[in-house]
Amino acid sequence: LNDTARSAIPALQAALQTFLPRERLLSDPAECLTYGFDNSRRHGQPALVVLAETHDEVAQTLKLCNQHKIPVTARGRGTATTGATTAIEQGVVLSLERMRKILRVDPGNRLLIAEPGVTNAEVQQAAGEHGFFWAPDPSSAAYCTIGGNLATGAGGPRAVKYGTVRENVLGLRAVAANGQEIRTGSLTTKGVVGYDLTRLLVASEGTLAVITEAALKLTPLAETKRTLRVAYRDVHAAAHAVARIMAQPVTPCALEFLDHHCIDMTAGKRPDDLPDGARALLMIEVDGPESCIEGMQAAVIAAAQGTSNEALEVKPATSQAEVDALWSVRKALSPVLRSLAPKKINEDVVVPVTHIPELIERIEQLTTDYRLPIVNFGHAGNGNLHVNLLVHPEREDELERAHAALAELFKSVLALEGSLSGEHGVGLEKRDYIDQEIDAPTLELMRSIKRSFDPNNILNPGKSLPA
Ligand SMILES: Cc1cc2nc3c(=O)[nH]c(=O)nc-3n(C[C@H](O)[C@H](O)[C@H](O)COP(=O)(O)OP(=O)(O)OC[C@H]3O[C@@H](n4cnc5c(N)ncnc54)[C@H](O)[C@@H]3O)c2cc1C
Repeated sequence: LNDTARSAIPALQAALQTFLPRERLLSDPAECLTYGFDNSRRHGQPALVVLAETHDEVAQTLKLCNQHKIPVTARGRGTATTGATTAIEQGVVLSLERMRKILRVDPGNRLLIAEPGVTNAEVQQAAGEHGFFWAPDPSSAAYCTIGGNLATGAGGPRAVKYGTVRENVLGLRAVAANGQEIRTGSLTTKGVVGYDLTRLLVASEGTLAVITEAALKLTPLAETKRTLRVAYRDVHAAAHAVARIMAQPVTPCALEFLDHHCIDMTAGKRPDDLPDGARALLMIEVDGPESCIEGMQAAVIAAAQGTSNEALEVKPATSQAEVDALWSVRKALSPVLRSLAPKKINEDVVVPVTHIPELIERIEQLTTDYRLPIVNFGHAGNGNLHVNLLVHPEREDELERAHAALAELFKSVLALEGSLSGEHGVGLEKRDYIDQEIDAPTLELMRSIKRSFDPNNILNPGKSLPA
């Protein structure tokens, strides 16, 4: 905070106290501390934390912060991996975690309306009781909120068939920086009146408005699902198979890729049932009507094998226990990765699926050139790879080499017509790289949109767009 803003905090606190009970306005630094982190492990100490329970409280808070020109960071559960949720400007953290009502489940119109603090898992539970689901399925579903999902544009394995947040939100109620209510979209699956502000707010990382209600588009649960694990001799064979699978008409509902590092690192922590020579895996799921599922599975297997039978093994699961066993490499991975190196730089770059083989080649070259272990897995059906650089910062120049490798990785991704982030977003981690992807006039247009929504630059300043 600059001196002027810091000196305005007592007046702001007094004004907030007129409508917020004491226990929902935190000012003790020890209590505020925990609201300054996210999963990037960065931290910014907030001066005040507001635990809002209603739309009106959000509106009043923003109006006052705008009057006093105090920065506000909206917060769901702080699981973002990019620093997007950290209170770097040390102003107010506006926590939405207590806005937890599901306001309407409407199977006839295939929609669910909820407040932003409802978790993704709670939405899935409520929709599931009516035979539906909400497509975005981040692996943090049990903890993260739909407000955070909307503001980051979250996705997960199902995105290959059902899309991310962007394709699965109908409309929003939100509050602009000056406290003004805005409503975007409609409750219909068609609607072309006005500019599409719903999709503008999606992935805007709390920099344009604070979402207080969302109408989510629901999809019927499929009657049945099949799970397969396909093993390949090398990463290139697996990467080529992804493009073959996506080029035929049956879209899998999960198409995940794991490289040889993932296989090696999880040895001893999963059933030892991989065929000899397996150096890459695809995890594939297909869902649909019971009457068609065998044919759908056969079509995907044929594409996974290719005309010259490139797969070492195709292993379908026949029971839930077998499904769990097949996914065990993927499940064992995150804890193992955390224990291997003190620092893990986890990128979530995305390229058109036909460019995955070239991306893999370039990453292998980076491993050699910069002498770093780089572990790759991810949502291959969307071309979205989690590229993990394992770093020991105490070793001489290793962090430096990692950053140089990262810059090369980003260059390669853009040269392959890709994008720097498929789902985690920009926040602070990628903010200073995005001008490599977005040209200057387009960035300037984005800045002018930001100024229209938030002329005093109080909403999550310093995030998403480079200065
Ligand atoms: C173990 C783990 C696994 C993960 N897996 C995935 C994955 O598979 N896919 C994926 O996409 N992500 C994943 N993530 C990242 C993270 O969970 C998502 O980005 C999630 O959407 C963040 O939700 P949140 O409630 O924690 O939001 P927060 O971290 O609290 O906030 C995220 C951003 O949204 C803004 N924000 C929050 N609420 C609002 C609101 N109501 N209005 C306006 N802005 C708001 C914040 O200011 C911030 O910029 C994972 C994270 C972890 C820790």
